[in-house]
Parts: sequence; structure tokens; C-alpha cells
Amino acid sequence: MKIVLIGIQGSGKSTQGNLLSKKLKIPYLSTGHIFRELAKERTNLGRYIKEVMNAGYLIPDDKTLEIVSEYLKRDEYKNGYILDGFPRTPLQAKAFKNGIDKVIYLKVSDKEALWRLSLRNDGEGREDDTLRAIHKRIELFHKFTEPVLSFYKKIGELVEIDGEADIKIIHRQILKVLGVA
Ligand code: AMP
Repeated sequence: MKIVLIGIQGSGKSTQGNLLSKKLKIPYLSTGHIFRELAKERTNLGRYIKEVMNAGYLIPDDKTLEIVSEYLKRDEYKNGYILDGFPRTPLQAKAFKNGIDKVIYLKVSDKEALWRLSLRNDGEGREDDTLRAIHKRIELFHKFTEPVLSFYKKIGELVEIDGEADIKIIHRQILKVLGVA
């Protein structure tokens, strides 16, 4: 099964993605994680990605598509995956022809997400998680990722879930829409 999770930062994608991964026994993959790993490399690409990420901007579509497609060719993803953070722009969605089964949108208000992130950042904060970068990411979500939701809605693959509900309830709802509950 190929599943895409969409939601603003702080919407619970990685929590739900990991729960789902355990339940369905398919790997969870976050493009943010891929880019954070690449950003550690002392190469031109690594330095460039680090700079873009730390500002909260998006990596250009062509680079993103190239990197994600390359990753998904790995053997571990041949039976499916749970993708978090991609596709994030209409161009990425249109170019990505991997036969996605369902796109799950975890809907959370900006206010709730900012509240959750402010709590999360007290502990193990990410280097790219400055308040400014978080605001930029939320802004870019509305600008570029909301049209992606419309794209998947039109082709009947989108499911919207209240991401402000309890973690277990959300998990059960996701399983239900996937037909595994
Ligand atoms: P995330 O962990 O999903 O918040 O992603 C962290 C950062 O990685 C983003 O702010 C972008 O700079 C980059 N990134 C992750 N996924 C994508 C994507 N699909 N397209 C472009 N940039 C991305």
C-alpha cells in the first residue's frame, strides 16, 4: 500500500505515520528526514539544502523529485510506504506517478500547530525549527500544499481527518479509511 500523509508542521504526521508503519508493516519515510540527512553532508548540495531548510523554504521541485524518486527505488520500499512531506507542491504531485492508494490530510489549525510546536521545541529541537522557519513553512503550506489537496480531491484519493482529535482516535480513523480496521 502506498500512502501519503499531508498536514502542516505539528499536525501529527510523523506520530501517525509511525503508528501506521508498525500496524501495516510498511516503511515510513519523511522527505524532511531525507533532506536533514543530506544537509549534514559537506558537499555543495548538502550546504545548499541546509541553507534552504533552515530558512523554512522549499527545496526546488526538480531536486526534490530527483532525490525522492531515487530513494523510493530502494528494495525496502517495493511493497509500499507511508510518505510524509511529499508531494508538497502541485508540480510534485503531478510529476509523481507512483500509484498512490490514499492521501490522508491531517487537518489542524495554524494556532493548534504553533501551540504544539512551541511545546515540542522545549526539548530536542531541530536545527531548522526556528520560529521564523516554522511560520514560513506554514505560509508555504497554504500557498503550495493546499492546491495539492485539491488535486488529490479531484481524483478521489483524498481523505480529510480531524488532526486535533486524540492520537488513538485518529489512528483508528485512518485504519478505517484504509479498510484495515
Ligand atoms: P519537514 O520535516 O517536512 O517539515 O521538512 C523540512 C524541510 O525539508 C522543509 O522546510 C523543506 O525545506 C524541506 N522539504 C521537505 N519535503 C519537501 C518537499 N516535498 N519539497 C520541498 N522541500 C521539502
